[in-house]
Amino acid sequence: MKKIAVCGAGIGGLACAVILSAKGYEVEIFEKNRTFGGKMSEYRRDGYRFDTGPSLITMPDVFKDFFREAGKKFEDYAELTELDVSCRYFWSDCTVFNSYGKKERLSAELTDVFGESEKDSFFRYLEYGKLFYELSKDNFLGSEFSIRNYLTMDGIKNLSKFISGRSMNDLSNKFFRNGKLRQLMNRFATYSGSTPYLNPQFFSIIPFVEYNFGSYYVKGGIYKIAESLVSLCQEFNVKFHYGYELEGIKSREDRIVALDFKTTAYGSINTDNFDIIVSNFTNSRELVYKDYFENDDWSCSGFIMLLGVDFQSEDLSHHNVLFSENYENEFLDIFERKIPAEDMTVYISVSNKEEKIDAPPGCDNWFVLVNAPFLNDKFKWDEKTKKSYCSKILDRIDSFNLTDRGSIRDRIKFCEIFTPEDIRQKYNSEFGSIYGLSSNTLYTLLKRPKNKSERYSNLYFTGGNTHPGGGVPLCILSGKIVSDMIIKSSI
Ligand SMILES: Cc1cc2nc3c(=O)[nH]c(=O)nc-3n(C[C@H](O)[C@H](O)[C@H](O)COP(=O)(O)OP(=O)(O)OC[C@H]3O[C@@H](n4cnc5c(N)ncnc54)[C@H](O)[C@@H]3O)c2cc1C
Repeated sequence: MKKIAVCGAGIGGLACAVILSAKGYEVEIFEKNRTFGGKMSEYRRDGYRFDTGPSLITMPDVFKDFFREAGKKFEDYAELTELDVSCRYFWSDCTVFNSYGKKERLSAELTDVFGESEKDSFFRYLEYGKLFYELSKDNFLGSEFSIRNYLTMDGIKNLSKFISGRSMNDLSNKFFRNGKLRQLMNRFATYSGSTPYLNPQFFSIIPFVEYNFGSYYVKGGIYKIAESLVSLCQEFNVKFHYGYELEGIKSREDRIVALDFKTTAYGSINTDNFDIIVSNFTNSRELVYKDYFENDDWSCSGFIMLLGVDFQSEDLSHHNVLFSENYENEFLDIFERKIPAEDMTVYISVSNKEEKIDAPPGCDNWFVLVNAPFLNDKFKWDEKTKKSYCSKILDRIDSFNLTDRGSIRDRIKFCEIFTPEDIRQKYNSEFGSIYGLSSNTLYTLLKRPKNKSERYSNLYFTGGNTHPGGGVPLCILSGKIVSDMIIKSSI
C-alpha cells in the first residue's frame, strides 16, 4: 500500500489522513506546531476556556457523512447542539435582532424588527441562495473543482447568475429596503474572508446554509472536532510527528522525492520514501505555483481578544455582532486602504452561555474578533498599534452598554491579544490571511491552488485555502475530496 505524508495537522490534513488510513494507506502527519488542529485551537487560563478559531459550526451532515465514510458514528466522538439563536445582532441605535434557528420564531422576529414585507424578502433571498446550493452541492462542494461539472442543463440555464458580476451587496440591495437587514445579510461574505461589496452573489449560499441547516455548537468546545479526528487517526494507526516544519523538497522530473524538515525533535525519520505528499498549507513558494504569491487580494485576517470578564452579560447571546455605522467604509478600510477599521464591527462569542464550565461561576469568556486587513506595507502591528487598537475596540464595545455597570475595562480580569502577525506565524498562513486568496472576484477564486498540484504529479493540497474553500465543514470536504482523488489515482 502507498505511503502518504500529510504536512500540517489542520482540519483538512486530519480529514484526509482519516480517510486514507481507514482505507489501508500508511499515513504519517508532520506538523510544525506542538499540537494538532491548526486554526481550530483552544486557550485556557484561570478557569476560563476559549475556542480561539472557529466558534460556529454549520452543515452538520458533513460531519456525520464523513465519520460514516470512515466506518464510524460521529455521535460516538462528538455531540452537536443546535443553537436557538444563531446570532444576536446589535446596532448603535439600540435595534437588536435575534436570528432564531426555528423558522416560526425567525419569521416573527423579522416581522417585528424589519416589517412584514422585509420578512417575505428575507425568505425569497434564501430561496435564491438555495438555487446556488442545489447547483453546487455535488458539483462543487462534493467533488474536485472543474467548470465542466456545471455543464448540466440546470447549470447552463443558471450560468448567467454565476458570472453576472452582481456582488452580495448588490443582491442585498435588490432584495431589501432596510439598510440594517442589508448589513446583516452582507456580513455572510466575511465567512469567506471577503468583502460583500465585491464577493459574487453566489455566496448567498452561506446564509442559505446557515438558516436552512442550522447553527451548532460542539459539546465540550469546538476543539472537540479536531480531537475526534485525531482519535480516528489513532485508531487507524496514523503516525504523528510534531515540531516538524516542511522547509523544502527534493524533486526529480515532476515528482517530489524527498521532504526537508526543520525540526527540534530528537532522532531521525526517513522522509524520502513517501509516494504521495498532501500539503495542508499553501504558503510555500516551492510547492505552489509562483504567480500565486504575486496576487494582492488575500482574504482578511483577524484581530482577536480573549477577555476573561468578571460578570455575566444578560444582553449577550452565545454569538453576537455589534455592527459598525458605515459598513461600506469599514470594508474599504480593510480591503482597499488595508488598515484596521476605525469604525469596526465587533463579533463576540460567549461559549459559556452553552457550556457553563468554560468560565468560573458568575463570569463570562468573551472571544472578541474584528476583521482586519491581511499583512501589508501600509500598516504594522507592534506593541503600540496592538494596544491602541484593543483600546478602540473596547471603546466601541462600551458604546453598546453591555455591562450595565460602566466600562467593560473595569470588568476584565485578563485580556490576551492575537494580531494578524500572530496568525501568520502560528499557522504559516499567507500574509496572516484566514482563507488564503480572497473570494472577492471570480478571478481570485479561479487562482486558488487546486487540490492536485499543477507542478508535481504526487502532490495534493487540502484545507481552507484550496477547493472547496474555508470554514470547518468545507475543510472536512476538502480532505475527503483529496483522499478520493488519491484513492482513484491508485486504482
Ligand atoms: C479567528 C478565526 C475564526 C474562525 N471562525 C470560524 C467559524 O466560526 N466557523 C468555521 O467553520 N470556520 C471558522 N474559521 C475558519 C476555520 O478555522 C478554517 O477554515 C479551518 O480550521 C482551516 O483548516 P485547514 O485545513 O485549512 O488548516 P489550518 O488550520 O490552516 O492548518 C494548517 C496546519 O498546517 C501547519 N503547517 C503550516 N505550515 C507548515 C509547514 N511548513 N510544515 C508543517 N506544518 C505546517 C500549521 O501549523 C497548521 O497546523 C475561523 C478561523 C479563524 C482563524
